[in-house]
Amino acid sequence: MKTYTRFFNLIFMAIIFLCGISFAQMNTAQSEIEKKFDSYLNPADLNARLKILSAHPHHVGSPYDKENAEFILSQYKSWGWDTHIETFYVLFPTPKTRVLEMISPEKFTPILKEPPVKEDKTSYQTDEQLPTYNAYSIDGDVTGELVYVNYGIPSDYDQLDRMGISVKGKIVITRYGGAWRGIKPKVAAEHGAIGCIIYSDPKNDGYYVGDVYPKGAWRNEYGVQRGSVVDMPVYTGDPSTPFVGSTKNVKRLAVKDIKILTKIPVLPISYHDALPLLKSLTGPVVPNNWKGALPITYHVGPGLTKVHLKVESNWDIKPIHDVIAMIKGSEFPDQWVIRGNHHDGWVNGAEDPLSGQVAEMEEGKAIGELLKTGWRPKRTIIYCAWDGEEPGLLGSTEWCETHADELKQKAVAYINSDSNDRGFLSMEGSHSLETFINNVAKDVTDPEKGISVWERAKDRQIINTSSPEVKGELESTKNLKIGAMGSGSDYTPFLQHLGIASLNLGFGGEGEGGVYHSAYDSYDHYIRFGDPTFEYGIALAKTAGRAVLRLADDDILPFNFDDFAGRVSTYLNEIEKLTNNMREETNQLNLELKDSLFTEVADPTKTYIPPKREDPVPYLNFAPLENAVNTLKKSADEYQKAKNEFMKRGKEFTKDQEKSIDQLIYQSERFLTNKEGLTGRPWYEHEIYAPGFYTGYGVKTLPAVREAVESRKWEEANKQSVVVANTLDNYSKEIDKATEMLENAVK
Ligand SMILES: [Zn+2]
Repeated sequence: MKTYTRFFNLIFMAIIFLCGISFAQMNTAQSEIEKKFDSYLNPADLNARLKILSAHPHHVGSPYDKENAEFILSQYKSWGWDTHIETFYVLFPTPKTRVLEMISPEKFTPILKEPPVKEDKTSYQTDEQLPTYNAYSIDGDVTGELVYVNYGIPSDYDQLDRMGISVKGKIVITRYGGAWRGIKPKVAAEHGAIGCIIYSDPKNDGYYVGDVYPKGAWRNEYGVQRGSVVDMPVYTGDPSTPFVGSTKNVKRLAVKDIKILTKIPVLPISYHDALPLLKSLTGPVVPNNWKGALPITYHVGPGLTKVHLKVESNWDIKPIHDVIAMIKGSEFPDQWVIRGNHHDGWVNGAEDPLSGQVAEMEEGKAIGELLKTGWRPKRTIIYCAWDGEEPGLLGSTEWCETHADELKQKAVAYINSDSNDRGFLSMEGSHSLETFINNVAKDVTDPEKGISVWERAKDRQIINTSSPEVKGELESTKNLKIGAMGSGSDYTPFLQHLGIASLNLGFGGEGEGGVYHSAYDSYDHYIRFGDPTFEYGIALAKTAGRAVLRLADDDILPFNFDDFAGRVSTYLNEIEKLTNNMREETNQLNLELKDSLFTEVADPTKTYIPPKREDPVPYLNFAPLENAVNTLKKSADEYQKAKNEFMKRGKEFTKDQEKSIDQLIYQSERFLTNKEGLTGRPWYEHEIYAPGFYTGYGVKTLPAVREAVESRKWEEANKQSVVVANTLDNYSKEIDKATEMLENAVK
């Protein structure tokens, strides 16, 4: 069959060459396949599947989690995929004791519960639900004065310092938002706090935003955001098995030896439960940007308000079930295009993650239909439904760690999705895939407006920017910039641990939220507020499905290094600017301190502690990085020229040649990793993209250099510039090898 394809390809090429048909038209075969693929997609199937998968709570270790995995397995099997379940055994703490009480100035006991609402059928399954808690909080029993710390991020503690307030020996209460939740207890503990309460403020997530559930979509007074608080910026996956797969008999760290659990006990609560605590706080009134939307005057504390917090978990090992479905490639079976979305939820998880899961399965179904027509992908396609994403990307990480060597060899790219709603396409990922995914998005029609999802995303960016310059750029742009990825979903082990080019796709912005990680994230909620017609589920299937099909079938893998070089150059400029700004601000601060400006301005009736003097910011040596970026731009440019020439002349590689150039192209991302990893967090090997150590989900690009600058470690910044420059140079050399192959073929 392979030889036939090759033979017909040659004849086809010859005909095209003779008739002078443009290259674009050669892709008609591909667009025929995509048209067929689209014709198999059916919103009713997504709806039916969502109903089944969200019928019961399906967190890690629950009976329905396993049933769902088996259901997904049976579906892929029925669609003709080679499918199995891969089981891992992970440390997954569940609540044993949760006590929170205000003991002074008066007694109050929060309910720590999400009561059922009659408009929501599954909210009555309280016996099957995981109680509201933060997974991987350590056990602890603490009593102390309460202090409100806003989002609980480092800049909030600077503000507390100005007010002369310390959280040492205190329990902090912090609102959700501002950074990923795991950052809050981490920073609180660094400042000496002994306990951490996290609540959802109605300003960010409740009646201030819109009508609350069940009248509207938004978080009602009892809604609680569960979630993991493990120190994910250090490593993801089972906390007891860093770097290795959690197979049945793997050697594990004892719980007491795990470094990424929180240092202090943590508990999430609703705004119903937070209100009496916050209301009772005394001390200074909070700064304006710390104010939420509760009907109180927000005070910082501390004072008479004392709380008792006790958290204990059952530290059990639980099985997780990844569903892995495969279709072997007809020409290059050892090149893997991988697609994934998790299937576990905190409770019923209709939106997170099932809205993305049912779309991914629809792609699986449609690809199954294509198989029946005799089509086979050139490269192998692997569809994954991950378990254990919510506690810390457990299923995807353990799979990546178990198969690391093979994945480094074979993985072409990884395409992720998670929650999906009505609205606008969001594209993030490796910038070598930027042009590619832009082209995909131009070929998918928005279900509400009839223009492409790309056009609509672009129009929204134009409307949302206030800069006339940016507006102008956007109007004439060929490519929308895709976001760089931090963390927060299953792409992290692929991209940042193994160096596999990755994308994260999803629609949103019109569907209404407010039930994130709560018992009200249900089928009943989703079909009212998420994507009632499932047309955006279909749009996701069309987008991600096209990306998979093109990566699986394209002749030369559609990576574009120009985009990547351009972005890295921007990131370097940002860091240079950051350093210069820090230098000016530091000089200014020291001047103002010298002139006692702060004390002169401060209100004498309030406590005010001026900031500390900072050492001046030296000039750093970014020359190695600048040179490396320059080389990279040249290499990327030459590659693109050589590829264009190759295409223009209608050249063809032999199968062996194509295999080698493909390998060079997709394995190039591996060269962006550094075996030693980032300083203090060796699991994160990617030198370009990492979750911020103090932002969690938020990305830090060129993290080794950027975070050294941000934390004023100047020597480290200089040292890391050299390290990253070497990494980029090695990457450029790989691109040069691919260029040479293209040039030789044209000669
Ligand atoms: Zn999710």
